[in-house]
Amino acid sequence: MYLQKFDLSGRVALVTGAGQGIGLACAEALCEAGAHVVLTDISTERSEAGRAALAAKGYSVEADVIDIGDSASVNAVADRLASAGRAADILVANAGIAQAGVPGEDLSDADWERMININLNGAFRSCRAFGKHMLAKGKGSIVTIGSMSGAIVNRPQQQVHYNAAKAGVHHMTRSFAAEWATRGVRVNSVAPTYIDTPLLTFAKEDKPMYEQWLDMTPMRRLGQPDEVAAIVLFLASDASSLMTGSIVTADAGYTCW
Ligand code: NAD
Repeated sequence: MYLQKFDLSGRVALVTGAGQGIGLACAEALCEAGAHVVLTDISTERSEAGRAALAAKGYSVEADVIDIGDSASVNAVADRLASAGRAADILVANAGIAQAGVPGEDLSDADWERMININLNGAFRSCRAFGKHMLAKGKGSIVTIGSMSGAIVNRPQQQVHYNAAKAGVHHMTRSFAAEWATRGVRVNSVAPTYIDTPLLTFAKEDKPMYEQWLDMTPMRRLGQPDEVAAIVLFLASDASSLMTGSIVTADAGYTCW
């Protein structure tokens, strides 16, 4: 009875930023639970490479291109799936970017706006476009990828815009959850610590910073993408049917100290 709650057979799941890192791991987790997964990315090469890797494992997958920085791009894929009678049952609003090392007082308008436009507005566009079709069906589960940076201020790197965007993602998640709670659509978020993906390439080149991160983490390690994907799978599935508006922290203990 309990394991059945994780069974996603017959469901369509869409992941943004699925070409690598956390998004690709989420796509694989959802596939393994039986969903048909649409891997989307701003990069055609990446989404196609992700699709091919999962297809080679025998999973039911397709690839498409979505730039979450552009409403028309997000809406087009959501509407196309719905008009083909395959509206997404599950959305993982994962795509995002990072930029660190710019003191707040020197942050340009362009850098601030780019970060908010991708990491916050992009998550909003995704929830709005796919959520609308879920509401029409009266059923759906959305998982946004926030960050521990939405609750704490990272040290030593300076990243006012990233932190603000992720805090926005968390509260947007709660707000959508409350609005849609009686209409069959749940909205939750995962707030990870540092995860070992290409996004963190900049950190591995800065040994003192990397060491400080480990010193500040009770488990003294980064997370792996599959450790986030397992939580996403739980939140996407009926195993979490009582949860909406939750921000699930997965931080190797970082926020204990
Ligand atoms: P990543 O850079 O490895 O992968 C991100 C993917 O998103 C890439 O394939 C990229 O092409 C795609 N992408 C970038 N801009 C896009 C856009 N405008 N539209 C669509 N796709 C776009 O990153 P990751 O580490 O896997 O991060 C995924 C999410 O997890 C992000 O939202 C990130 O902020 C969040 N997160 C990451 C960490 C970490 O330490 N890696 C920690 C906490 C939260």
